[in-house]
Amino acid sequence: MKTFDVVIAGGGLVGGAIALELAQAGLRVGVFERGQPGREASWASAGILSPAPESPGMIPMVPLAKASMGLYPEVVANVEELSGKSVGFRPAGTMDALFSRDATRDLSTLIALHHGLGLKAEPLRPEDARDLEPALSPDVEAAALRPDEASIDNRALTQAVFDAAQRSGVEVFPGQGAEAIWRESGRCVGLKLRGENVSAKWTIVAAGSFSVSIKGVEGYAPVRPAKGQMVSLRADELKIERVLWSEKIYLVPRNDGRILAGATVEYVRFDKHVTAGAMEKILSAAIELAPGLANARIEETWAGLRPDSPDHLPILGPTDIDGLLMATGHFRSGVLLMPITARLMREWITQERVSVDWERLNPMRFATARKEATT
Ligand SMILES: Cc1cc2nc3c(=O)[nH]c(=O)nc-3n(C[C@H](O)[C@H](O)[C@H](O)COP(=O)(O)OP(=O)(O)OC[C@H]3O[C@@H](n4cnc5c(N)ncnc54)[C@H](O)[C@@H]3O)c2cc1C
Repeated sequence: MKTFDVVIAGGGLVGGAIALELAQAGLRVGVFERGQPGREASWASAGILSPAPESPGMIPMVPLAKASMGLYPEVVANVEELSGKSVGFRPAGTMDALFSRDATRDLSTLIALHHGLGLKAEPLRPEDARDLEPALSPDVEAAALRPDEASIDNRALTQAVFDAAQRSGVEVFPGQGAEAIWRESGRCVGLKLRGENVSAKWTIVAAGSFSVSIKGVEGYAPVRPAKGQMVSLRADELKIERVLWSEKIYLVPRNDGRILAGATVEYVRFDKHVTAGAMEKILSAAIELAPGLANARIEETWAGLRPDSPDHLPILGPTDIDGLLMATGHFRSGVLLMPITARLMREWITQERVSVDWERLNPMRFATARKEATT
């Protein structure tokens, strides 16, 4: 029987990053992945690194998101050095373009919200915004620059994280999905695979949108998939330096000249089809934001499944089953939260306490609610 210090169910960016961090702390780690590592949400993502909340409900995540953002430069350096691969980190900032009639008022609200949360945001006049990003529509009424934000090539990053993890001693088992957690005398002692058990002192569930299908973790990780459709464009004559947002869409430039546009948020179970209606919406919003994209070539379209939780916040940390931890539910921010997730998991396992306030993300919030509802 295979035996590890830590077994991880799920070989996405989250599972891979945790494995790397734990291996670098001297632990023996096995990652069990039901398909190919890094081919689900971590592959489909846009790779925007923005701690700004997308809705009021996401405000509790901001301190964690800021902490994660702060770790990014050192994590990129570590992964690039170990893997020998570039991960396309672009710390160029992001820009919000406003087109509304009340753009000036909306801009003040946006800047005040950011400053209230300790996030940098600078107001820009339309002409200054277009000086920085000449591809922007002349109809832009105002803009906000968030100079500390960034983007990263999530596909390259995921691949590099797995290379780095394996070079650090992590064993990765593709095509070996977990069917259940393995429990004995109240403890979690590893994972049950098809026809085989693997034993470990700690078990981490990091199976993204699919976490709930692993028997034994339903109460802790009630995640559901939120489909996102994306399109990749190439326009040789059009330069975009930083991530651009409008109310309808974002555009993400990559180092190789591609411009990604996305994304929808749809609750359609595990469907990953690309639809004509979504492409129409994304493309028309992209052209509204940067009119030069009308001549861009479409290079690729795809859809992926974000792991969403009932309160849209991640599910991180130990459970009331000894030895079982959750690292899932990262919804729209799993790439951003990758470094802090890995750090927290290492702290729980090696120190049994963590350096940031994570109580709002405790997996027990759902387990307790379920118990209360049934009594
Ligand atoms: C269109 C889109 C755009 C996004 N944009 C951004 C963005 O700009 N910035 C950002 O920070 N985040 C973004 N996200 C979110 C981000 O991609 C996710 O939060 C993150 O990738 C989640 O990583 P993960 O490793 O938890 O999940 P995944 O990458 O889905 O990995 C989970 C893995 O577990 C495996 N698995 C499933 N079941 C089992 C099992 N039973 N046993 C073993 N393995 C199993 C799967 O095969 C998969 O490989 C976006 C997501 C999408 C879809």
